[in-house]
Amino acid sequence: MDSSGSAVVTRFAPSPTGYLHVGGARTALYSWLFARKQGGRFLLRIEDTDQKRNTEEAAAAIFEGLRWLDLGWDAEPVYQSQRLDIYNEYFRKLIDAGRAYECFVTPAELEAYRAQAREQKRDFIYKREWARITDAQRQKFIDEGRQPVLRLAMPEQAITVDDRVFGQVTTAAEQLEDFVIRKSDGFPTYHMAVVIDDALMGVTHVIRGQEHLGNTPKHIALQDALGLSRPTYAHLPILLNPDGSKISKRQDNPEMWSKGFPPVRVGDYQRRGYLPEALVNFLALLGWNPGDGRELMTRDELIAAFGPDRIVQSNARFNLEKLDWMNQQYIQGSPPDVLVRRLREFLAGTDYAAARADDAQLAALAPLYRQRARTLAEFAETSGFFFADAVELDPKAVEKVLLADDGAGLAELKRVRDLIASADPFEAVPMEEAFKAHCESLGLKLGKVAQPIRVAISGGTVSPPIFDTLVAIGREKSLARIDAAIEKATHWNDAPAAKDASLPQNAPGDVGP
Ligand code: GLU
Repeated sequence: MDSSGSAVVTRFAPSPTGYLHVGGARTALYSWLFARKQGGRFLLRIEDTDQKRNTEEAAAAIFEGLRWLDLGWDAEPVYQSQRLDIYNEYFRKLIDAGRAYECFVTPAELEAYRAQAREQKRDFIYKREWARITDAQRQKFIDEGRQPVLRLAMPEQAITVDDRVFGQVTTAAEQLEDFVIRKSDGFPTYHMAVVIDDALMGVTHVIRGQEHLGNTPKHIALQDALGLSRPTYAHLPILLNPDGSKISKRQDNPEMWSKGFPPVRVGDYQRRGYLPEALVNFLALLGWNPGDGRELMTRDELIAAFGPDRIVQSNARFNLEKLDWMNQQYIQGSPPDVLVRRLREFLAGTDYAAARADDAQLAALAPLYRQRARTLAEFAETSGFFFADAVELDPKAVEKVLLADDGAGLAELKRVRDLIASADPFEAVPMEEAFKAHCESLGLKLGKVAQPIRVAISGGTVSPPIFDTLVAIGREKSLARIDAAIEKATHWNDAPAAKDASLPQNAPGDVGP
């Protein structure tokens, strides 16, 4: 219930572009949060009157994005393209009431008027006189094949939008022109369809992007002309890139992402390994705040705290470091089974080595990575060695860790191999104790021993804690990797082909032992 006592109805009304835009996701989220907070309903409408083909498919991609973010809707989506009869009924009402009229002025003629206005350095305002014609002229236009548009006859008075975010915004009568409500192809314009549909769907609160604030006086004029009630409006601040530029299609590619521009499509956040919970939390704070400095908020906390009064007017800038931080917090905070489920969803259909892991393997790794991976993609990228059949040794790591100082690391690796072979039980804590005792007796730092093992096991110098890593890989596989690394490193400088540990042991042409 809102303050007037009627049940709240909000809606998200995307055009079917074929993907859920990140700005659209924020609009949907705010509408969803408000409906949930008020115990109301959240509806979907596909604004497809411009769309010629593939609406279904394009809308499906939007639904998929909303589902991934877990923003459920409360009734079957409405498609504007299926509602032409309804709009026609309202055109008729406006014509009968003398509030709408046909206009035969062509786009080319309008452009000429516009050019004239530019030359005289004045604003272009459409004049009703241009459409005043005699019956004979009308017939002539029709005979010529001109298709008229339908325009709303605007009242000659200022219109004030009472916006929940931007306050009272008044447009002077001189700035209001008779705008098109039916295009020459017979389809309603966005303004007409949005007003009829919001009214018929019972929408009480319209939450949408600031780019539509300037359209709202038109919508109010139409509501007044049709005797429809006026919803409460809340326009959301514009979303900007970190550098202050507008988010645009230009940045819809990995090259722009590598330069710090955020992806446009919600699906690309998914593919880059963000958790939907983290993206929801992040988007909620792009233009709104709870007023008490909280940043990490669960969905229930967001619902409880949300309200249009704390939506800010100033443009909201994307901060990808913050999103990464938030995502890491969510990765750390996810219960293991949720994290495994998220990893499964993320890895499905990818060619990461981790995609071959079963749930048990992922569950074993999740605790090792939750402290270090900012995204599921980082998890997948850096955990490949767990699942690889053969480790590829990074030559730099081999030279630095195993071969430097006359092969000190390699000698150490040979020495500790037995410690790993005989570890009983094969568990991280006792193994670490045994290694510490070994190091103490030799006066070595643990790192001097751990790093050579790490290179042998992972191929490089970065991995989760080494004893956890050994346990996750298992004794046999660990020993096999250590043996292979000892072999490779021992013959490192013999022949170039020997450097590639991923090659079969007996390459063609080798003479076997
Ligand atoms: N189809 C419009 C858009 O995608 C929706 C505008 C509205 O919410 O009224 O921007």
